[in-house]
Amino acid sequence: MQNHHKVLIIGGGTAGIMVAAQLIEQKNFTDVAIIEPADTHYYQPAWTLVGAGTYDYEKTARPMASVIPKQATWVKDKATGFDPENNTVHTANSGDLTYDFLVVAPGLTYDMSMVPGLGDALDKGVVCSNYTDPEHTWKVIQNFKGGTALFTQPATPIKCGGAPQKIMYLAESHWRKTGVTDKTDIVFATPGTVIFGVPEIKKTLMEVVDRKDINLRFFHKLVELDAENQIAWYELTKDPAGEGVSLTSGEDFKDLEGTFVHNFKNVKVTVKDGRFGIHYDMLHTAPPSVAPEFIRNSSLVNDAKWLEVDQYTMQHKRFSNIFGLGDVAGLPTAKTGAAIRKQVPVVVDNIITLMQHQQTGNKEYNGYSSCPLVTDYGKMVLAEFDYDNKFTPDPKLKQMLVFNSDKEHWRLWMLKKYMLPYLYWNKMMRGQDV
Ligand SMILES: Cc1cc2nc3c(=O)[nH]c(=O)nc-3n(C[C@H](O)[C@H](O)[C@H](O)COP(=O)(O)OP(=O)(O)OC[C@H]3O[C@@H](n4cnc5c(N)ncnc54)[C@H](O)[C@@H]3O)c2cc1C
Repeated sequence: MQNHHKVLIIGGGTAGIMVAAQLIEQKNFTDVAIIEPADTHYYQPAWTLVGAGTYDYEKTARPMASVIPKQATWVKDKATGFDPENNTVHTANSGDLTYDFLVVAPGLTYDMSMVPGLGDALDKGVVCSNYTDPEHTWKVIQNFKGGTALFTQPATPIKCGGAPQKIMYLAESHWRKTGVTDKTDIVFATPGTVIFGVPEIKKTLMEVVDRKDINLRFFHKLVELDAENQIAWYELTKDPAGEGVSLTSGEDFKDLEGTFVHNFKNVKVTVKDGRFGIHYDMLHTAPPSVAPEFIRNSSLVNDAKWLEVDQYTMQHKRFSNIFGLGDVAGLPTAKTGAAIRKQVPVVVDNIITLMQHQQTGNKEYNGYSSCPLVTDYGKMVLAEFDYDNKFTPDPKLKQMLVFNSDKEHWRLWMLKKYMLPYLYWNKMMRGQDV
C-alpha cells in the first residue's frame, strides 16, 4: 500500500467525504486518501425525525464504500496519533502514513463519565437520546403515558445544539394527538441562559414554548443520573442567592420565574447538598461530547482540547499543512453539517492555493451554521447565523417562497424531510456546491 499521499484525510464523515469529493470533482485532484474505520456512513440530521417516528432509520445509513469517492484511497483503519513535525499519522493496523497536507475530521465522541449514571441508563427503559439510538426515543415517546417529561442536555459543546429541543417539540405534538399532554409536565432543563442565541429565532421559539406550555429551566448543569429512582441531578451554574432566592425545595424555583425559570411547573424536585434533582418519568438528553481521545492526547489541541484551527482559514494554528473542520474543530460556532458545508470550500481552496502558490487563498469562513428547528410535524424554523450570532438567512430560500425563515413554515419542514437528505446524498457527498 502506498504510504504517502498528497492529501490525507482523517474521517469519512460529512466533513471528510465533502473535502475529498470537492478536491476530486472540482479541482481534478486525485492523490487523496481517507482513513476511516466504519462500514456505514450516517446522515445524522434525520435522526431527529427518526426519534419522532416520521423517518426510517435505515434511510439515514449508506455503506461507507458508496460515499467514498472512487478516485480516493480508502484506508480502512483508525488514526491513533500524530507526528506533525514529520508529516506523519499513526494508524492502528496500517503503520505510519505520511502526507503533504493533512485534513483532520474525525468528528466528536461521547464521554459518559462526565455524567455518572448516564452511560448505564442511556437507550434503556425511559432514558433516550436521538444522538445514540433515535429508534429507542420513538419507543419511549410512544410508551409515555404522562408525568414529568424531562428534556435536557450536557454542559459540553454538542452536535447541533438545537436537537435536544427539536425532539421535545415533536414529542409534545405527538402527546397532544394521543391525549397525553393533559397529564404531562414538559420540562426543558439546560445549562444555557436562553432558548436560542439568535434574537429573531429566540422570539419565535418562546412563542412555541408558550403554545406548548413548556417549563424552561436555565443554568442547569446535568451532573449525575440516578436511573433507579428516575432523578436527574443538576448543579446551578449561577447562584440564585443573587436573585434574593434560597432554594430549599422544588417549589422555591417559582420565585425565579423570569430568570432561572419560564412557565414554572411544580414538578417533583429533591434538594440535597446544593444539588437539585428533577424526578422524571421519561428523559431525553444529548450525551456529554468531547474530541476523540487520539486528538485530545495530541499536540494539535487548544486549551479546551478541541482541534486548534484558525477560525477563518481552518488552518491549524501551528502546523501550516494541517487543516481541520467539522465537529472536532474548536470554533466558536455550532457544530453542524450545515457549518461543514461552508467550511469545506475554504479548506479545499486553501490547500490548493498553498500547493500552487505557497500561501493560503482568500476564502474565509464566517462562522456560518444553521439549525433546522422543527417545532411540530409539518412546521420548521430555520436558524442561520454567523460568529456574531447574526441572523443570516440564505437568499436561496426565496426561491422556495420562504421569505421569513425565522417563523414557522411548512415549506421548511419539506426542506428538512425531503430536500436536504436528497441534496446531501446526491450533491454534497459528490463534491457539488449546493
Ligand atoms: C441527533 C442529531 C441531529 C442533528 N441535526 C443536524 C441538523 O439538523 N443539521 C445539521 O446541519 N447538522 C445536524 N447534526 C450534526 C451533524 O450530523 C454533524 O455536525 C456532522 O455529521 C459532523 O460531521 P463530521 O464529519 O465532523 O463528523 P461525523 O459525521 O461524525 O464523522 C466522523 C467520522 O470520523 C470517523 N472517525 C472517528 N474516529 C476516527 C479515527 N480515529 N480515525 C479515522 N476516522 C475516525 C468516524 O467513524 C466517522 O465516520 C445532527 C447530529 C445529530 C447527532
